[in-house]
Amino acid sequence: MTVAIHPSVDQGLKPAAPGFSGGTLVCQCTSNPVKVQIDSQVLHNHACGCTKCWKPAGALFSVVGVVPRDKLKVTDNANKLKIVDEKAAIQRHACSSCGVHLFGRIENTQHAFYGLDFIHAELSPQGGWAPAGFAAFVSSIIESGANPQNMGAVRSRLKEIGLEPYDCLNPPLMDALATHAAKLSGVLKA
Ligand SMILES: [Zn+2]
Ligand SMILES: [Zn+2]
Repeated sequence: MTVAIHPSVDQGLKPAAPGFSGGTLVCQCTSNPVKVQIDSQVLHNHACGCTKCWKPAGALFSVVGVVPRDKLKVTDNANKLKIVDEKAAIQRHACSSCGVHLFGRIENTQHAFYGLDFIHAELSPQGGWAPAGFAAFVSSIIESGANPQNMGAVRSRLKEIGLEPYDCLNPPLMDALATHAAKLSGVLKA
């Protein structure tokens, strides 16, 4: 039996459209949906196994990436948005009616990823978004109820799709976090 990872990667990765410059994220409400305009291609898009990211029903992973926060604008029904957890590093703004997360924002200016908002490009009807490039926090799917015995099959399937599995972020992003921390502590001179 094939392991279902996420609807946007299970049939293989679709390449980004050249020159693609964004689209509109729409929540799942059938009336008065929240809409968010994105004026950027998605960056660092990846499958994420953490327990905090929004996933569509039945998916083992979310697919999430970032855009510069000044390229994101809520255009419709902003009043339905609620922050899931005010204390989390990434404040996820979800639709209070359907539960979809429209964007995640970091308000801590000292955070390595400050200035980037997290989005799920699958919420946009437009094609052309950059596909997921790797899989992060793979072991964490167990915390959402995945069978630990099945992890070998999950990692094999991720590799087969072309998503290298990591149990944290991928090396470039882990290096970026560590570099930021070393600069903050003064170990590395800025
Ligand atoms: Zn909604
Ligand atoms: Zn996540």
